[in-house]
Amino acid sequence: MTSLRCPTCNLLFDIEKTKAMPFCSERCRLVDLGRWLNEEHSVPHVPSLDELEETSDEPQ
Ligand SMILES: [Zn+2]
Repeated sequence: MTSLRCPTCNLLFDIEKTKAMPFCSERCRLVDLGRWLNEEHSVPHVPSLDELEETSDEPQ
């Protein structure tokens, strides 16, 4: 038995029991694919640490 850690959900799985290598399941494979597509089509706004601190310090 060979184990591998799924890049999507971090689960340790048996590579002989999945058809969605290198993921533990087809679902995780699709989740990862979705992430790639989202990054290509739109760049999400990622708040910097400073922004996060400002919003938490000053509740509206
Ligand atoms: Zn997974």
